[in-house]
Amino acid sequence: MTWSVIATWKFSIDGVKAAGKLIEDGGKSLDAVELVARYVEDDPSVDSVGYGGIPNIEGEVELDAAIMNGEDLSIGVVMGVKGYKNPISIARKVLTDSPHNILIGQGAEEFAARIGFEKAILLTDESIKKWLERKKQLATSSKENKGCNKENCDIYGHDTVGIVALDIFKNMACATSTSGIAMKQRGRVGDSPLVGSGFYVDNYIGGAAATGLGEDIMKGCICFYAVQLMGEGYSPQEAAELAVKKIHYRLFEKNGKVGNIAIVCADNKGNFGGAANHEGFEYAAASDKTLPAIYKVKSVV
Ligand code: ASP
Repeated sequence: MTWSVIATWKFSIDGVKAAGKLIEDGGKSLDAVELVARYVEDDPSVDSVGYGGIPNIEGEVELDAAIMNGEDLSIGVVMGVKGYKNPISIARKVLTDSPHNILIGQGAEEFAARIGFEKAILLTDESIKKWLERKKQLATSSKENKGCNKENCDIYGHDTVGIVALDIFKNMACATSTSGIAMKQRGRVGDSPLVGSGFYVDNYIGGAAATGLGEDIMKGCICFYAVQLMGEGYSPQEAAELAVKKIHYRLFEKNGKVGNIAIVCADNKGNFGGAANHEGFEYAAASDKTLPAIYKVKSVV
């Protein structure tokens, strides 16, 4: 009986514990990744995912989420969804109940309403406070005050919960959920809901999920690349490091700077690993061989 769950950032630890239990009890990897994402989406202290996420420049919380089934490569994605607390569960329904892979904005919201999701207010006192503070900073740092610009895009806060799981039936799944970059322009979408960039999983090999500056991560399709590396025989840890280094140096060579990039990887044998191009990245993981724990990652560049 081999299984594993790995998720970005230490805020995932409670969800990882619950998902590990679910899998041990015979639950499916698809349910496990959704469960971890829901834990983080529901947590108002996480200001970059779901309820309590810092809004865009207009003061609206716009959410992106994705889920992928490694068994048949089916995908469900929502982008720019407002007014729903658990975009991951809407994405799951896009996967199972819609003829499409991706629904955006109003279309995704109408779909959610049609199938019975309850509307919710996602702003909290804390997220409003942070938004007002950042708005003040922007007013002094940006002439136009139109939201973040190319220079300061990632300084107002961001982080994504990205999860990969293997269940005891040898099926894998992955998921991501995020409010994206704080103070983003309305309609902005990062890497998190983009297949191959923010997430990818294939039962035959393994899966990966990314977090960091979406504008840079998506240039390297990093998750698809990391999964292909595992397919070539690299361990999840090696694949994570190689994938981060490859995109980091490619972008650095031309631009002289790169945003934060981090990735978690797991293979279909229950092994897992993570890498980042910056200090401070942590992930949570549990498996049949390892108790739930938080892993600190050193920069690989
Ligand atoms: N990748 C996310 C985005 O660009 C943010 C993050 O994971 O830090 O929307």
